[in-house]
Amino acid sequence: MKVYADNAATTPMSKTAINEMLYHVENTYGNPSSLHAAGQQAAMALLKARQTIAEYLGCEPKEIIFTSGGSEADNQAIISAAKLGERKKKKHIISTAFEHHAVLHTLKRLEKEGFEVTYLDVHENGLISAEQVEKAIRPDTCLVTIMYANNEIGTIQPIGEIGAICKEKKVLFHTDAVQAAGHLHINVREQNIDLMSISAHKFHGPKGVGALYARKGVILTNLIEGGAQERGKRAGTENIPAIMSMAAAFKEACDNIDENAEKVLKMRNRLIDGLSEIPHSILNGDREKRLAGNFSMCFEGIEGESMLLYLDMEGVCASSGSACTSGSLDPSHVLLAIGRPHEIAHGSLRLSLSEYNTDEEIDHILKAVPEVVNRLRNMSPVWRDLKEGRKEYVIQ
Ligand SMILES: *Cc1c(COP(=O)(O)O)cnc(C)c1O
Repeated sequence: MKVYADNAATTPMSKTAINEMLYHVENTYGNPSSLHAAGQQAAMALLKARQTIAEYLGCEPKEIIFTSGGSEADNQAIISAAKLGERKKKKHIISTAFEHHAVLHTLKRLEKEGFEVTYLDVHENGLISAEQVEKAIRPDTCLVTIMYANNEIGTIQPIGEIGAICKEKKVLFHTDAVQAAGHLHINVREQNIDLMSISAHKFHGPKGVGALYARKGVILTNLIEGGAQERGKRAGTENIPAIMSMAAAFKEACDNIDENAEKVLKMRNRLIDGLSEIPHSILNGDREKRLAGNFSMCFEGIEGESMLLYLDMEGVCASSGSACTSGSLDPSHVLLAIGRPHEIAHGSLRLSLSEYNTDEEIDHILKAVPEVVNRLRNMSPVWRDLKEGRKEYVIQ
């Protein structure tokens, strides 16, 4: 049996998204900047996609900039806010240690350019509080950037509360909502979000396309210079088939948020309940305030990477954290941020479900994971030391 349980890394495209993409690959070939009929047909399609996305986010179409994905949107949002701050001699930014690398590495670059970044401590349950944000705001703070939902442990931050505080303190608020968009109800106006990043391939759309919402009045800095596309803020002929497909996928996901979440939650809770039975295991992230499809656990005495290889042989596509860090030997920065010691963070397993998964697949995972954990523990010298009392268990 083949089970795809790595939807936080990327999702398969929906039939709707595929059909929309194919239709526009074949039919909407004009350049939206051209004045002739073919160009205007493409411009109309583009406008429709922008309207759809704006409608589901609660903003105006002109507040949406299409990008090459979540990473570009994160970069542009943060750099824009930093440039605006710099002009007013405000060079302090607030974020957290468990952001996606698209945010963290952009912040690192700004630190080299003289910005100061406060990384809020993430509580062991994977949450930060609005009070923490409020306490950290200074007169020279130009930006708060805090992710909506974490890509490894799935925890959902109090975005509306943080937005209200930022509005009151007149500080720009960006949220990386790549894991949340299409999965949670978002309204940028009600939640006082100034800048927000989304990416199509995390909600059954195509890869290589995303969007940046920027509240009107927030002046963006270009990352790509050239033509006047996207209100002059992002040059390059628009990828119409991908953008149309993203809009179709987003509409489909948003129209079905509640029923998808209900279905996925039942399957995910079976995973948590079943795999918690494995001795010396611990759930990562708050049990309730997490994405419906996210499962993340650490198992003592084993290596996450080996677990993935063995699970792959059982047909299960899983992850030990972020797809972006696999291939490196460092443990997940997210698990370290919630206080997991190195040796425990190494033994992590993330299973991320979508509504395409089935109960039979969950049965298969519930059988495969304990077998793999046992097999690896039986080969592990660390586990032998633990079992024979030469070392103390970290996870009781
Ligand atoms: C996947 C992801 C990104 C990057 O999006 P891309 O479209 O792959 O560039 C950024 N942030 C989070 C939280 C993600 O999960």
